[in-house]
Amino acid sequence: MAAGLGLYLHLPFCPARCPYCDFNAKTYDHGEARRLLAGLAVHLRRIAPRAQCRRLATLYVGGGTPAMLPAAALASLLEQIARLIGLEPGAEVSLEANPGALSPLKLAALRKAGFNRLSLGAQSFSSELLRALGRRHTPRATVRAVEAARRAGFTNLNLDLIYGLPGQSAAMATADLMAALELSPEHLSLYELTLSPETPFGRRYRPGEPPLPSDGQIVEMEHSAKALLEDGGLMRYEVSNYARPGLECRHNQATWQGGDYLSLGPGAHGHLAGVRWAYVADPSEYCRMVDQGQEPLAMREELSAEQRALELILLGLRTVRGVELASLAVLRGADPRRVYAGPLAELRRRGWGHLAKGRLIPTEAGLDMADAAAELFA
Ligand code: SF4
Repeated sequence: MAAGLGLYLHLPFCPARCPYCDFNAKTYDHGEARRLLAGLAVHLRRIAPRAQCRRLATLYVGGGTPAMLPAAALASLLEQIARLIGLEPGAEVSLEANPGALSPLKLAALRKAGFNRLSLGAQSFSSELLRALGRRHTPRATVRAVEAARRAGFTNLNLDLIYGLPGQSAAMATADLMAALELSPEHLSLYELTLSPETPFGRRYRPGEPPLPSDGQIVEMEHSAKALLEDGGLMRYEVSNYARPGLECRHNQATWQGGDYLSLGPGAHGHLAGVRWAYVADPSEYCRMVDQGQEPLAMREELSAEQRALELILLGLRTVRGVELASLAVLRGADPRRVYAGPLAELRRRGWGHLAKGRLIPTEAGLDMADAAAELFA
């Protein structure tokens, strides 16, 4: 299992709500952001002892659009975390950002403060598709943000792209990837558009029906994406994630391997030694509970060893590293080849996975069918 401790910090503010978004995000309000920063400082002091003297190997600041907050506020948060919990030398410190929310000065200040990995929500390099997504930035803004981030000293950059968009052809998806590759990112996350019923997109569109691409077009986009990205040196290491070797996102990898991570902020999820939790999603409620000395929990769950093993399998089947059998054996107190004999046989029969070097490893076809593969074990 993963050794390093992580921390996920959620800052839910965005310039506006995108019509496809079902994340815990809301339109920025200066007063609310100030109150949340004050609440986070109090909550951080309270949770810091849970690290039990382990320093952080990774910190991931996500949202929302956390980079909307002033650089000084983000630097102050990072300083408080470093002082109260501590960061390992060489810790990965990631920040999510929208291309429109960054200036060269801000990027320089963020880099100086200690952020060393920047994840940019590019989403597409087509002006038309960005408009359809309700995004406020332009393709040119993404290019400028990458150039400025490089000048500021960021050597570990991720670009987020979405495919399967309304009116998007396979050729347009390829054009997006080519434009991304021209910027030489170290990492690329490629997500299929998902439709949640409670979003405007979810009410407007039906999967596989025009103007959304058909299922066949989606498969074509996925296959050509893998070929194109791997040709460009970005190797697929998780269903939706590609990286130059050695530059995979360490924070996400640790969480996928059942690692421990603290959490901070409204809606943030955490996991420590088989206990997982989520904080209340509403920033005002989060601050109110913190102010009253309560733990702002929306959910807390102690996982049984069987549930932890299952979670390792479900997450591991989404990664090229797969799952370590020894970890499963420890959790189940028995040989996982025996415990999961039925699902393993079916996984092999369908050509979705195999056992090698003490691990259960998904095949390429298995990665493409990760949800169905996981269901064999559920
Ligand atoms: S920027 Fe991202 S988190 Fe914010 S509303 Fe849009 S999709 Fe959601």
